[in-house]
Amino acid sequence: MRKLPRILVVEDEPAIAELIAVNLKHNGFAPTLVFDGEAARREVDAELPDIILLDWMLPGESGASLARSWRQHERTKQVPILMLTARSDESDKVQGLDAGADDYITKPFSTKELLARIRAVLRRRSPETVDDVVRVGELVLDTATHRVSFRQQELKIGPTEFKLLHHLMKNAERVHTRGSLLDRVWGDHVFIEERTVDVHIKRLRESLGEAGSLIETVRGAGYRLSVVGMRAAAVVSADNPAA
Ligand code: CA
Repeated sequence: MRKLPRILVVEDEPAIAELIAVNLKHNGFAPTLVFDGEAARREVDAELPDIILLDWMLPGESGASLARSWRQHERTKQVPILMLTARSDESDKVQGLDAGADDYITKPFSTKELLARIRAVLRRRSPETVDDVVRVGELVLDTATHRVSFRQQELKIGPTEFKLLHHLMKNAERVHTRGSLLDRVWGDHVFIEERTVDVHIKRLRESLGEAGSLIETVRGAGYRLSVVGMRAAAVVSADNPAA
């Protein structure tokens, strides 16, 4: 089952925000509402959404400033941003696009128009909802063919391990708690013990063979897929051909 695209809605007018959220839920999206830039930053830092609906006029930090800063950072620069503007002023739209928004929509807008824009932006930009190929070092995962290979050797991997690996590869070098992995890989609608994550991590490492060491256990925190450890291992084995 494909997970629902996560949409972060940054909108300070509660009535508009609620209306957007209800419509998104009814149409197969998972919206999260925040009312200002500070909360938006916290959400994005905690977990990357598939798309951000960003109101331009916010209390505190403006939408333009948020968009610019997300675009500047490696981790967030690919996240599609759809700007919500109250004004139909052409210069606002140009400024929005200059700041890094993918598209804009002028309030008031119809649900139909909003959904069409979201789908169009997702098709163009979203890495998580569109089929793609992810590479981390010599590990390659292809969501279109559902194949994983390491050093050009195809690996056999179960469906849950595939999703787990996809998430870890998409967010390489980051530490994930068991709770956040359950949420992202299994979905938060099911109740599963955190221990289940350990079981699947173990299976995933076994399936990956040599590449299994890419998945590190971070004591007291969770798991991380890291190429740093792999490089160290490669250096060690080059120094000790017998090992
Ligand atoms: Ca506003």
